Amino acid sequence: MSQGRLEQLRSELDSVNLQLLELLSERARLAQEIGQEKQKQGVPNFDPVREKKMLDALVEHNHGPFDNETVRHLFKQIFQASLKLQQVDHKKHLLVSRKKKKEDTLIQLGDTVIGGGTPVMIAGPCSVESYEQVRQVAKALKETGITVMRGGAFKPRTSPYDFQGLGVEGLKILKEVASEFGLKTISEIVDPAHIELACDYIDVIQIGARNMQNFELLKAAGDVKTPVLLKRGLAATIDEFVHAAEYIVSRGNTQVMLIERGIRTYEKATRNTLDISAVPILKQETHLPVLVDVTHSTGRKDILAPCARAALAAGADGVMVEVHPDPATALSDAAQQLNIPEFQDFLDNVRKSGLLPAHSL
Ligand code: PEP
Ligand code: MN
Repeated sequence: MSQGRLEQLRSELDSVNLQLLELLSERARLAQEIGQEKQKQGVPNFDPVREKKMLDALVEHNHGPFDNETVRHLFKQIFQASLKLQQVDHKKHLLVSRKKKKEDTLIQLGDTVIGGGTPVMIAGPCSVESYEQVRQVAKALKETGITVMRGGAFKPRTSPYDFQGLGVEGLKILKEVASEFGLKTISEIVDPAHIELACDYIDVIQIGARNMQNFELLKAAGDVKTPVLLKRGLAATIDEFVHAAEYIVSRGNTQVMLIERGIRTYEKATRNTLDISAVPILKQETHLPVLVDVTHSTGRKDILAPCARAALAAGADGVMVEVHPDPATALSDAAQQLNIPEFQDFLDNVRKSGLLPAHSL
């Protein structure tokens, strides 16, 4: 082949490349439009039947030189790239997405603002066990300048024979004690039918890890105005976590906070594996406040302070920790709750890092 012929063929190839690029871009734009239409109709982006039909039609028109398998393979790549494009577009449209709303969502609990750049410490017992138990914790929290107390009244336990919580009675205790000390409260709700009732007793509805994908519960929490603290599921991906929050926000309740509480991995040194990287990712991808539960993620009292500091250094809007007046007798999570002096040391340690505002009396 002469040098001149080679040059000519190469120039033809370059021009076909450009035509292909034009056509691929045109195809991508059409796929994007189809994706938007599907989203409006609530139809999934990936349609295997349609994809098979397109591939069969292409093979039918294939006259070589590529064999049918190669044609299928090449077009499959193009289909996948289009699907990816639709998924990215879909994410941009999520209500919880930072791309949809640039400004941080703020949760106002009395004088405390969560998500506004000043991190908060949330503390309290794993379970509400008695009026006196909650009162002792509340008093200690008040003395250290903590304004938001947690306490479980409905406890989702692994064993049905374990303490299941005091139920509505527990919510009443929380309300009574909180009003005495001027605290705001967080408590887990597990039944969609209890969401409205809970709003009368607590300031934040917690949706626990085991219920992160309880869609009826998410929808019920989305139908009220009370802020929601949504915990990451036991083995949930960040994407699943974000979509669970979208369930709540899409129903109208924009007051949602996310809390990383560790995910299950092969590691046994901690109760769960604290995924610190989830903090900056969730902060980047969503406009919701992001907190870290150091107690349930680690399950170890000896590493709570460094993990809390790591969470705050990674940009968390707050940390949650469990405190009990007498952990040895606690009806749940006895091994991992701090007693009151331990909690005070923990708080001092985190405050000394400068990552959490000091308490001014
Ligand atoms: C809790 O915070 O009380 C709790 C049960 O945590 P999780 O849902 O993260 O296991
Ligand atoms: Mn607990």
